[in-house]
Amino acid sequence: MAPCIVLSFDDGPNVVTTPKMLDILEQAHVTASFFVVGKNIAGNEALLQRMAKDGMEIGNHTWSHMDLTKLTPAQIRDELIKTQLAVQAAGAPLPTLFRPPYGAVDDVVVGSAGLQTALWNEDPKDWKVANSATLQQIILASAKPGGVIDLHDIHQVTVDAMASTILSLKGSGYQFVTVSQLQNSKARPGNAPFYGYKSDMFRHHN
Ligand code: ZN
Repeated sequence: MAPCIVLSFDDGPNVVTTPKMLDILEQAHVTASFFVVGKNIAGNEALLQRMAKDGMEIGNHTWSHMDLTKLTPAQIRDELIKTQLAVQAAGAPLPTLFRPPYGAVDDVVVGSAGLQTALWNEDPKDWKVANSATLQQIILASAKPGGVIDLHDIHQVTVDAMASTILSLKGSGYQFVTVSQLQNSKARPGNAPFYGYKSDMFRHHN
């Protein structure tokens, strides 16, 4: 079975860059996971509907992108529930996963969230890469089966890198899946944890 890899995009939706990313994914016929920030949804409801229609997974990246480990359980729940409601009101399926901003997570966050924690295991730091060719090199150098790549659909450089990066990954035989599909995949390596904060691979990665 083909090795699986996940493109995950955080911090959107963004009215300028997110549609471009969706165009690229659509043209390449690949799926991805988008972890959206609740307060960015207003005015971008059609983008969430398009994500759902295009087969993208939509995850919860909190309402205002705060470090959840600095909040009370009630505040943590508020950050996540407001985003759940905004996704639903936009006409997209309710997320089952959340990604804590900065990867900041502890037992209180996990116990309060009511959603499964979805971190990552490949961190190209696209937010500080100056050009798309460099970003592509970084992504390809660290790509591995079962990889969950942390990217951001709010950066033009990431948009610019993605078409050729996808082409290269396809050339290496990768199949693109969502975080949830990877979680459920029988194809993932037997004891390579990719998911959940108890995993060393993911914990405090940022
Ligand atoms: Zn983020």
